[in-house]
Amino acid sequence: MHSSIRKLQKFLQLESERGYDNRAVVGGLDKILPAWLKEALEDQLEQRLIDYVAEKLQDYAEQDIQGRRETIRDLLSELKEPGIQQAPLKPQQTDEAPPAQPAPPAESPQPKEKDITPPEAAPPPPAHQPDPAPVHKPSAVPDSERVALNAPLTTLDGIGKRYADKFNKMGLNSLIDLLYYFPRRYDDYSQLKPINRLEYGDELTVLATVQSSSARKINNGRMTITEVVVSDGTGFLRLTWFNQPWVANKMKTGLQLVLSGKIDMYLGRLVMNNPEWEPIEKEHLHTNRIVPVYPLTAKITQRWLRKTMHQTVTFWAPRVRDFMPDHILQDARLLDLPNTIAQIHFPDSFEQLKAARNRLSFDEIFLLQLGVLSQRRSWMNAAARIFEVSDEWLAQRTSKLPFTLTGAQIRTITDLRTDLRSGQPMNRLLQGDVGSGKTIVAALGMAIVADQGAQSTIMAPTSILAEQHYRKITELLTEYIQPGEIRLLIGDTPETEKQEIRQGLQDGSIKIIVGTHALLEDPVQFKDLHFAVIDEQHRFGVAQRANLRAKGRNLHLLVMTATPIPRSLALTVYGDLDLSVMDEMPAGRQPTETRVLYPNEREQAYQLIRSQVEQGHQAFIIYPLVEAENEKQDERQAAVQEYERLQTNVFPQFKLGLMHGRLKPAEKEAVMTAFRNQEFDILVSTSVVEVGVDIPNATSMLIESANRFGLSQLHQFRGRIGRGDVKSYCILIPETPNAVENERLAAMAETNDGFILAERDLEQRGPGQFLGTRQSGFAELQMASLSDIRLIEKARMHAQELFNQDPNLERPEHRELHKMMKRFWPAGAGDVS
Ligand code: ADP
Ligand code: MG
Repeated sequence: MHSSIRKLQKFLQLESERGYDNRAVVGGLDKILPAWLKEALEDQLEQRLIDYVAEKLQDYAEQDIQGRRETIRDLLSELKEPGIQQAPLKPQQTDEAPPAQPAPPAESPQPKEKDITPPEAAPPPPAHQPDPAPVHKPSAVPDSERVALNAPLTTLDGIGKRYADKFNKMGLNSLIDLLYYFPRRYDDYSQLKPINRLEYGDELTVLATVQSSSARKINNGRMTITEVVVSDGTGFLRLTWFNQPWVANKMKTGLQLVLSGKIDMYLGRLVMNNPEWEPIEKEHLHTNRIVPVYPLTAKITQRWLRKTMHQTVTFWAPRVRDFMPDHILQDARLLDLPNTIAQIHFPDSFEQLKAARNRLSFDEIFLLQLGVLSQRRSWMNAAARIFEVSDEWLAQRTSKLPFTLTGAQIRTITDLRTDLRSGQPMNRLLQGDVGSGKTIVAALGMAIVADQGAQSTIMAPTSILAEQHYRKITELLTEYIQPGEIRLLIGDTPETEKQEIRQGLQDGSIKIIVGTHALLEDPVQFKDLHFAVIDEQHRFGVAQRANLRAKGRNLHLLVMTATPIPRSLALTVYGDLDLSVMDEMPAGRQPTETRVLYPNEREQAYQLIRSQVEQGHQAFIIYPLVEAENEKQDERQAAVQEYERLQTNVFPQFKLGLMHGRLKPAEKEAVMTAFRNQEFDILVSTSVVEVGVDIPNATSMLIESANRFGLSQLHQFRGRIGRGDVKSYCILIPETPNAVENERLAAMAETNDGFILAERDLEQRGPGQFLGTRQSGFAELQMASLSDIRLIEKARMHAQELFNQDPNLERPEHRELHKMMKRFWPAGAGDVS
């Protein structure tokens, strides 16, 4: 349905609700004509319909109530047909001809498309589809006028240099950047009511005339309040604007306004605070519709952006060439791209918005899957060095370990051996819950490679973790590797030592290098790097992983994560990787007991920590932030201040340590070492200890402001304890006693299974949040939602089919798709792993 039609329907409906007093719009219904005609033309409504409306409204004022009622009825009936532009119009002397379709009784509100009418009454109009209907409006733009999505802004008609500059500053350089700059949310102001029918809490639109306006200063002149009283003949409404003194000047008595916002209550009367407003005769962009709200960057106002977006979208969206092949659009019942873009920005209805989102989600999965497929194909074709060891070789090494490997560890090591001797590069994802023992598996893989004289590396996201790996791997391999053959490289490593390490990597004397992203710095060159391990891979950017891969030729790659990926998503996001799952914990582990406490029950948590520490164990207390971000911030959130308070007032008898992200790596390491050596009992820390840290003697953990973390993240924190064979305890305290938050957190108490928690995270936050920008192969999965398993399956199937037919996207009909792929898989970043 066209927005111009929808809008006119609303005006007519309001008029009929008011009993045809011709005051729905002050000064008469015909006042809306100029603005409406413009919109109708933009919507490409049929000229005959436009003329019909204009004529009917022009003499509306002169008619008596009965005449008006008939006019409104006729108009509504004419506008009702969804396929309006094709519908044959009646001859102009409408009054004589019977209506093509029985009009609804004028008193009843006009059905909003397909509501109200009971199902057994009149069959639904043919244009209605049972699904949230993708609508293919026949587009009037000829193909020759269409543009490719990647056209730079400056080459586009209608976007002047001034606009282009502003957009460039926002990082929007091409047409697609702009059209894909989506609203953050929408305000639904599509409902229109007379003032005497307003209710507290309504979010809607009111049409009214200014009766009086005044501005005054309060708070010693620091604040201006503009107060305006408006009326629509059914009642009066007070409007208040804070700190917008210029509004008063515009609110001349008699001005007719469209106002949108929330109905509030002040001193027992209904008011609107800071409503959006527009003069009635202008096109309604900020009011009287589903209004998009964009993410803003500095120096740009919402109204400016909305207006400019509207101009851009109105002109350019219909001129966009759809990259999706027609047969897929048909089969998958997708909205075409021009309409998708138009509807995602300025939705005509929530139904249309849903169809647009559906299309965009489909696109994301589809493009992701295509990329993954071609990635996999190119890896399968490459040749990698073969590494082979005997069973005896392996048995000798595993027998020296201080523990017996779990079945899952043994299976995974077998997977690695198979890959390493296959002659094709390993591309393997190792998924194992926190504490399942992934490090040793990676270390054995590195030992195999080192045994044959080649180099391997393991990269961890934090220096704390890199240092821990370095210590562990050295310990594990001590008999098999010369000192100096394994080294640690982090950002904080002194420059002279870095030089030495670079030398060793270049001449091949270093066999194993453990480090952070410092490994990726350009001067680091390897002699023959053949095996790279990325630990906690979701913490790395796609480009970082690609960089590491580029340090060797066709190297074997193992990426490790504790975040379990549901199968449907794994196939899509990691379809190019082989998967090993370690679903078994080392023997003797006890599940951590988890409780959620209300903020006023904090003393119980302290009590538990006291008793654990008194038994010789250690504890973590986690805060989300380093320091209070500003004075308004609750002080408890600040680990630094809290550390002092806890040490002085809560745990004076114990020794506390402090860890946060602003410490230098060497300082962090000193803190971790001291904690590991039990030089203190309680570590107060920010989220820097989230991943990987292994202190088996720590048995209790308190997580403050737990509501700020996702479930998977909380699970990671909790994985820092319960790593020994004594029982561990985890306590979560949210910032407020808010029941919903507590309910979400309660999932933590219910299960220790990271898989279940990840799925809940997915339900609650969607994969964009879940995977972060880091894990997906392109910028972000903005739209796709995992609850849409069907959509994912459908998109995967279509991608696979298309890939089978034209893997390189060489056919002419895939040209735009090829371009789109390049946008989502920029060169060098084509690495999902
Ligand atoms: P994660 O999978 O979370 O990275 P780690 O590799 O850090 O786990 O291992 C967690 C702890 O379990 C370490 O202290 C490690 O030495 C120990 N560990 C690993 N494998 C076993 C096993 N098979 N039996 C007992 N302890 C093990
Ligand atoms: Mg680990």
